[in-house]
Amino acid sequence: MMVAGELALADVKVCVLEKLEATTPYSRALSIHPRTLEMMDLRGLKSELLQIGMPLPTGHFAGLATRLDFAVIDSSSNYSLFIAQSETEKVLEQRAWALGADIRRGIEVLSVTQSADCVEVTASGAGRQMTLTAAYVVGADGAGSMVRKQANIPFNGTDATMTAVQGDVVFKNPPATSVVSSFNEQGMIMIVPVSKGLHRVVFIDPETKTIPKDQPVTLEELRSGMIRMLGEDYGISEPYWMTRFGNATRQAERYREGRLLLAGDAAHIHFPAGGQGMNVGLHEAMNLGWKLAAEVKGWAPEGLLDSYHAERFPVNTALLQNTSVQTLLFGTDFSPATIHLRQMISELLQSPDANYRLASQIAAVDVHYDVREDVSSHQLNGRRLAEIRLHSENGDVFSSYELFREGNYVLLNLSSDESVEEIVRKQQRGRIKNVNAALAEPAKGWDDVHTALVRPDGYIAWAIAGTEIDLYNRIEQGIEQIGKT
Ligand SMILES: Cc1cc2nc3c(=O)[nH]c(=O)nc-3n(C[C@H](O)[C@H](O)[C@H](O)COP(=O)(O)OP(=O)(O)OC[C@H]3O[C@@H](n4cnc5c(N)ncnc54)[C@H](O)[C@@H]3O)c2cc1C
Repeated sequence: MMVAGELALADVKVCVLEKLEATTPYSRALSIHPRTLEMMDLRGLKSELLQIGMPLPTGHFAGLATRLDFAVIDSSSNYSLFIAQSETEKVLEQRAWALGADIRRGIEVLSVTQSADCVEVTASGAGRQMTLTAAYVVGADGAGSMVRKQANIPFNGTDATMTAVQGDVVFKNPPATSVVSSFNEQGMIMIVPVSKGLHRVVFIDPETKTIPKDQPVTLEELRSGMIRMLGEDYGISEPYWMTRFGNATRQAERYREGRLLLAGDAAHIHFPAGGQGMNVGLHEAMNLGWKLAAEVKGWAPEGLLDSYHAERFPVNTALLQNTSVQTLLFGTDFSPATIHLRQMISELLQSPDANYRLASQIAAVDVHYDVREDVSSHQLNGRRLAEIRLHSENGDVFSSYELFREGNYVLLNLSSDESVEEIVRKQQRGRIKNVNAALAEPAKGWDDVHTALVRPDGYIAWAIAGTEIDLYNRIEQGIEQIGKT
């Protein structure tokens, strides 16, 4: 739904085929993390999500007693938002639909076959078979991705070695704190709020962790696990959703095969530790949407679409390492030595540097992309644009994020230099929005910037200092990188 929304935003004709008749009612991903919130802010969706979810200033790493403090992150979204995935999906589907995406539910894709010019898709639904033709197909079809299999893209990694148990339930006597977490010789348990009146219990029980994930969970299993691990069941009742999930860890070898692309769980799966899966899928959608749109519209420079795999594959390799480490710390062994190891790491996490490092990873604000070798070096190059306040020539103060609603490149002409405007006018490159503004307040890394080009997904393509020798040629070359409209 996110890719569809991004493509529709760029005026690309897009059709979503989804086999479910309606959004799944189950919570699944419960937290939206800082970088995802920033991306939602770029597209004007954050306030809607804030109305539904519950902000929490922390996140967690392996359920350690010291929670990650997101407040230290340099971001206007330095917190997690607790919100059920079903709600997030509805917001994204509504947005894609409102932008003109043709969303067809109850349609199952049966095959995708690509030729030099197009992809032929066969599908069935509403009692009939159909064939559609598309320029490209994005397989955002989950862990068992049919698109990935049809594209013959290997899904390298390891099978599950253990499972965890989860239940969204009602507590007659809810815990006093919003998050409960414990690790002892009986197992690992976390309890978090899902929505009004509903809590999520998730645990790894050494006695049941070899049960395969397709075996149903019972209320009694949840209750007895809680009693053993916490000595308390909070009056558990009315299970809304109970499930078991494993730690299979795999990544697609390539995110692109000709006209077929992969995003989300179709491209990578891992134990849902630290609540990152849906978040990274949305980051991929932001990375891919504008590049695919540029390709379809014919203005993408050579290699732009391939940069999707080049940029995201290493990020997700690091993600799989991060979730594997967490699994090792909370799902492998419940001996006194592990309990002490966790206590030690927990103590270390009280150090601001350690907290900052892990919080930035989970929040995904540490992600940055390589920039072309021929751009002038600057500390902001390839980094995410943290929200900055700007003032226009007539004195209005506004957020840098407001400039990204239409999904264009944004050229921040911070000296309101007419020569820059002239370069933009002369070149007529790609979807570029020229903004003459100045910093309304100091912002980290920005004090020497004369002009900066920010990509549609909110990453800084390049920033150039006013002291740069050959300033205008540098800016001209930088704009030339964007394909011609
Ligand atoms: C118990 C649990 C807890 C989790 N907690 C978190 C969390 O806290 N934070 C977090 O970020 N992530 C979490 N995740 C992970 C998150 O839910 C997934 O990463 C996310 O759903 C992936 O989204 P996706 O769109 O890539 O795939 P999916 O959500 O699997 O969506 C794929 C869609 O494709 C459709 N489809 C598949 N095949 C076809 C076909 N042939 N034709 C038509 N349609 C098809 C499916 O019906 C489905 O709607 C959790 C997952 C689980 C299971």
